[in-house]
Amino acid sequence: MTESSHSPGFATTAIHHGYDPLAHHGALNPPLFLTSTYAFASAAEGAARFAGEAEGFVYSRVGNPTVAVLESRLAALEGGEAALATASGVGALTALIWTLLKTGDGIIADQMLYGCTFGLFEHHLPRFDIEVVFADLTDPANLQAALRPNTRLVFTETPTNPNMRLVDIAACAEICRRADARLVVDNTYCTPYLQRPLDLGADLVTHSATKYLGGHGDLLAGAVVGPKEIIDQVRFVGVKELNGACISAFDAFLILRGLKTLNLRMDRHSATAVKLAHDLEAHPAVAAVYYPGLDSHKQRNLAQRQMRQPGGMIALELRGGLAAGRSFMDKVKLATRAVSLGDAETLIQHPASMTHATYDPAERARHGFTDGLIRISVGLEDYEDLKQDLLGAL
Ligand SMILES: *Cc1c(COP(=O)(O)O)cnc(C)c1O
Repeated sequence: MTESSHSPGFATTAIHHGYDPLAHHGALNPPLFLTSTYAFASAAEGAARFAGEAEGFVYSRVGNPTVAVLESRLAALEGGEAALATASGVGALTALIWTLLKTGDGIIADQMLYGCTFGLFEHHLPRFDIEVVFADLTDPANLQAALRPNTRLVFTETPTNPNMRLVDIAACAEICRRADARLVVDNTYCTPYLQRPLDLGADLVTHSATKYLGGHGDLLAGAVVGPKEIIDQVRFVGVKELNGACISAFDAFLILRGLKTLNLRMDRHSATAVKLAHDLEAHPAVAAVYYPGLDSHKQRNLAQRQMRQPGGMIALELRGGLAAGRSFMDKVKLATRAVSLGDAETLIQHPASMTHATYDPAERARHGFTDGLIRISVGLEDYEDLKQDLLGAL
């Protein structure tokens, strides 16, 4: 391979992309620019920057040098033209949707979504006459069948939060292309290290960077990645004028720090989760384990095609149902009872009463997840210690 045709690997990109220490006094890490505003050399320069005719920052709600390093790095990791970092995953989603859609437009969303995404789609967007149709996108034929003349956007996660079903990104992208609808994939569970939706034909990727990208449970943040033309609109309309969900430079700095070990962390989350998923599945108190690294997973082939590794999230159901699940959660000692995911600490939670309490019982049944489901975000602790803790609590 010649030098010019060689493109850096994932870790090199995550550590170096978009930043030259020699342009910043040799500082190894990107400087933290704690500033809300930026001085202009002249009135004419200020006007030119506002008009987009001159390069440069104007106000940190629309751009900041520390945040810009993070954005270029996220774009490179996802294989997108541009990225926008936001104050939270929900901030990324609302900035995107409010920018791209108007009254009368339609969304098709997978029936299983992160709780607050479901809340936005089911309970709030209809107030603005945006029509949301839920379909089981684990079968792409259901997407084809759900298309309507007003469908502008198709939204999915994969694996889905919390029940670990997969959606075939390439198949859905093909249907969206023919229907002139945009496919948006929430890639929070996988990160670009395990899955690159844009390579598979998706138009846009969203993230809760609160989770694996940050990776240390010390911040909230989000991102949208995709074509520069759309990202510019989401920045200058969605964040600048609609929701104001700009990320702080400090949080961007922490995510840049987290990204340096993203591939190492994901390797370890996955390796430990594979072992624990097998241990749990073999235990007599466990009715089912939902994990794309198990042969029992209904979409194991798709997982192998679409994901580099099965990831760190496991869902399980106990034979004793909800009561047994509650008792299991109360007995673990090492795993932390908490929502969120992607941290060094193993986190265990009960979606029906916690992250997915936005689904009422009828909605939970209709959308396909049970009250007894327990979700585990496998952390970076020693496997033997986690095994002892989880199997001991069973
Ligand atoms: C946490 C999460 C979100 C929301 O992100 P916040 O950073 O909490 O706003 C969206 N999607 C998924 C899959 C999540 O796990």
